[in-house]
Amino acid sequence: MKAIRVKEFGGPEVLQLEDVPTPQPGPGEVLMRIYATGINPVETYIRAGKYARLPELPYTPGNDGAGVVRQAGANVTEFKAGDRVYTAGSVTGTYAEFTLCKKEQVHPLPVNVSFVQGAALGTPYATAYRGLLQRAVAKPGETALVHGASGGVGIAAVQLARAHGLRVFGTAGSEEGLRLVREQGAHEVFDHRTRDHFDQVMKATGGHGIDVIVEMLANVNLGKDLTILAKGGRVVIIGSRGPAEINPRDTMQRDADIRGMILPNTPPAEMASIHAALVAGLEEGALRPVIGKEFPLVDAAEAHRAVMEPGALGKIVLLTESEK
Ligand code: NAP
Repeated sequence: MKAIRVKEFGGPEVLQLEDVPTPQPGPGEVLMRIYATGINPVETYIRAGKYARLPELPYTPGNDGAGVVRQAGANVTEFKAGDRVYTAGSVTGTYAEFTLCKKEQVHPLPVNVSFVQGAALGTPYATAYRGLLQRAVAKPGETALVHGASGGVGIAAVQLARAHGLRVFGTAGSEEGLRLVREQGAHEVFDHRTRDHFDQVMKATGGHGIDVIVEMLANVNLGKDLTILAKGGRVVIIGSRGPAEINPRDTMQRDADIRGMILPNTPPAEMASIHAALVAGLEEGALRPVIGKEFPLVDAAEAHRAVMEPGALGKIVLLTESEK
């Protein structure tokens, strides 16, 4: 099979397409034919060798993808060859034509969701659900600000918050991004390039403040986020690319919480519940992954450059075959 291999940590050019043996499923494992692979920012940090947990070299990147089951290993009764599925995690990496997954990582892909859309689920939708609903415990009737709503996680957070009956505010950094975030269900949108967007958000709450902030770039925003929280407000930190300065008094006055999260910390039972909810939301049409850019597998390096550029308009995916 064709797969992207990384033999040394470095720039995007270390992502090279190679022929490698197709893996075979062991007990409790599923072999998936991948049609589309989701690109996540974390895969660029790992590729560069700048992440807390690094794989042994050489390796094939990728956690997310959608396709069909090629072969179910022993003790797998949940799936059979030909089933449409998406994966949230992989044993051998998803930047490849085939990937080996533990059966717990694999989930049914509803017929109304394309394979390309399925590639946007594993990390972004699960992260948005974990952050908004399990860590920040957002409740219907509350106000949520999705700070960085135009990207993979942000669009998922906007759709989830809207479906849960929250009043949803979203930010983006381009006109197209703002339009997209509104289309995905945000009641109000704000441009995070402007210095006064925090004042605009506060004004839009009528002075009450925001109950839940879903934060994609905490190093830039956290200090100011704390000043626009309502009493009892929560900021859940999903993304940060450096240190931040805060005034702790801003949390004291509001009985406010700063809650960090990283998806791999999710306990298995809570993860299973996240994916059950996501599949239901997809079937109902409340969740509709948006694809920003598509690249062929051979252009994985281009996709890694694109995911770190501003102007996100949904998910970046690799196609390992023309879409089914
Ligand atoms: P993405 O698709 O590349 O989107 C990045 C988002 O950040 C875009 O909406 C972008 O908006 C926005 N952004 C840029 N400048 C901003 C600013 N000053 N304030 C607020 N937002 C800003 O990435 P993603 O997949 O959604 O991931 C978002 C972040 O979460 C990344 O840092 C990623 O590493 C992290 N993450 C963490 C976990 C976890 O487990 N904790 C899981 C998944 C992702 P414009 O492009 O419109 O400016």
